[in-house]
Amino acid sequence: MEAESRQTLVTRTGGLVIEDRAARRDVDSGTRNIEGYTAVFDEFAVDHELLDADALQARWPQFRLDGGEQALYQSESGLVDAARANAVHVALARAHGAQVHEHTAVRAVRPDGEGVLVETDDRTYRADRVVVAADA
Ligand SMILES: Cc1cc2nc3c(=O)[nH]c(=O)nc-3n(C[C@H](O)[C@H](O)[C@H](O)COP(=O)(O)OP(=O)(O)OC[C@H]3O[C@@H](n4cnc5c(N)ncnc54)[C@H](O)[C@@H]3O)c2cc1C
Repeated sequence: MEAESRQTLVTRTGGLVIEDRAARRDVDSGTRNIEGYTAVFDEFAVDHELLDADALQARWPQFRLDGGEQALYQSESGLVDAARANAVHVALARAHGAQVHEHTAVRAVRPDGEGVLVETDDRTYRADRVVVAADA
């Protein structure tokens, strides 16, 4: 997207997640803890470093730690300019032929045997296929 739009959308800063190990046990948090993240990073070869409290304190002395923390550092983490990224997404989609209907609530999505009907307040669209991307 950056190459095509010539807009800067991601500012790489590196990212640090600090976790209180006792408070993020698997039994309570499932895989939403550093173990869960690192399992995915290992699977997909995402660069990361795991640090214990001593190593964390040595590199980032500004934090006050209890000693039971662990941390995850990702050199590739960064910030997305969300408003600009959304605007660029829409502009590129339009440039590639998409029609974007803003402020158009979908009221129903109904398969009818041959395709899909997408109902809005104003009209009903027919499509061979529909991709719903309405968050989880
Ligand atoms: C406070 C907060 C902080 C977050 N921080 C991060 C972060 O730092 N990093 C990260 O990776 N993720 C973060 N997330 C998660 C991330 O924002 C979502 O996972 C991601 O935006 C989901 O993308 P999506 O396209 O599936 O859905 P969304 O971005 O939610 O887009 C869904 C769209 O569908 C529209 N919609 C829904 N229903 C209808 C309907 N009936 N008709 C028409 N339109 C409809 C909505 O209006 C919306 O525009 C954060 C989320 C929140 C809430």
